[in-house]
Amino acid sequence: MLCRFKKTKCHFQPFCAKKSAIFVNQFLFFVNVEKKGAVLLLFTGGTISMSEDPATGALRPIDFNRLQEYMPELKQTGVHVKSIPFLPLIDSSDVQPDTWEKLALIIEENYDDFDGFVVLHGTDTMAHSASALSFMLENLSKPVIFTGAQLPIGMMRSDAKENLLTAIEIASAQENGMAIVPEVCIFFEDTLFRGNRTTKKNAEHFNAFNSYNYPALAKAGVHIKYFRSYIHYSEPGTKLRVRTKVDRNVAILKLFPGITQFTVHAILNIPGLKAVVLESFGAGNAPRRSWFFDELKAANEKGILIVNKSQCSTGTVEMGRYETSLNLLSAGVISGYDCTTEALVAKLMCLLGEYDSLHEVRHKLSISICGEMTIG
Ligand code: ASP
Repeated sequence: MLCRFKKTKCHFQPFCAKKSAIFVNQFLFFVNVEKKGAVLLLFTGGTISMSEDPATGALRPIDFNRLQEYMPELKQTGVHVKSIPFLPLIDSSDVQPDTWEKLALIIEENYDDFDGFVVLHGTDTMAHSASALSFMLENLSKPVIFTGAQLPIGMMRSDAKENLLTAIEIASAQENGMAIVPEVCIFFEDTLFRGNRTTKKNAEHFNAFNSYNYPALAKAGVHIKYFRSYIHYSEPGTKLRVRTKVDRNVAILKLFPGITQFTVHAILNIPGLKAVVLESFGAGNAPRRSWFFDELKAANEKGILIVNKSQCSTGTVEMGRYETSLNLLSAGVISGYDCTTEALVAKLMCLLGEYDSLHEVRHKLSISICGEMTIG
C-alpha cells in the first residue's frame, strides 16, 4: 500500500487514511461499556517493548502483539484505547526526523477522533522526540503524552504498567469537555513534564527524566494532581497546524578546556551547516582566545546561526555577565536562555525546515514558541 505522504510502502496508511476498519480493529484493545474517553496509542518501540535475545542476552524489540498479553489492566481504565504499532518497533537510538513526521501526521489524521494521544517510545531519545513534536504541533488542544519504561514490560519489577496506565489516564483527562493538559509531555515514574523542557538524566533508576528549568505539570500519587498554572493552553478557537519539514543541517559544539582551533574550525565549516548549538560553560561563557572569536565571527558572517546553551542543567545563559561571554555577543551568538539542548536542536531543525529567511529564524529563536524557554 502506498502512503500519500511518503509515496512509499507504508504501515500507517490504513490508519492515516482511516479506510480499513477491519485492519484498525485488529489493534483495538477493547471498547468499555463505561466510556471515559478515547486515546490513540502510538507504539514506536523502546525498552517497554523489549525482551532478552536468548542467544546474545541483549535487549531487542519484541513482537507488538505480545505486549497486549501483559496489559490486562487496560480494561479497567474505562478508556477506549486504540493502538498503532510502528513496524518494526525500534530502539529509540534509531529514531530519525522521519519518525517525528510519522507521529505528527498520524496525530493530525486522527485528531478529531480521539481525546488524547500516548506515544510509547524508548527513553534514550524521548526528550528529543517530545521536543520536536511540540514544535510540529502548533495550537495543540489535546494531550500528547510520551512514556516508556526502564525495564521491559515482561519483567517482574517493570515500571511499564504504571507509566502506561497513568499516561493513558492523563491523555484522556478532561474538565468541562476540555483537555486538562493540552501539551506534548513526558510522563515518567510519577511526574508529568513539559516535553520540550525534559532531559533524560538517569539510565538506571525509574525516575529517568527531569525538567530542570520548568516545574512539573502534574504529580501522580493516590490522585493525579495537576498544577494548572504551569500548563500552557492554546488560544481558544485556534486550529491544529502541523509542520513536518525539518532541516538536519544542525550541529552541537561542546566546549572543554583545551579544545583546539582545528576542532572548532572543522565543526563550523561542515558543508551545508546552517546552525550550531554552542554548549558553553556556566552562565554562557567561553574562552577569550582570539582564534575562537574569529572562528565564530566568520561562521556568523557566512549566515550560520550560533545559539548559546549552558552546559549546566539548571539556570540560564546570560551573555555579558562575565567578560568571557562579551566576545560571544559581538560575534553574533544568540542566547538559548534556559532551553535544553534537545529543545534547541529540535527548534532549529523545525525553524530551518519552515522558513527560508534567516531573519525570521533569528527572530523565532529569540522568542518562546511553545513554552520551551524562559526569557529574561
Ligand atoms: N535503548 C532504549 C531506547 O531508548 C532505552 C529505553 O527505552 O529505556 O529505546
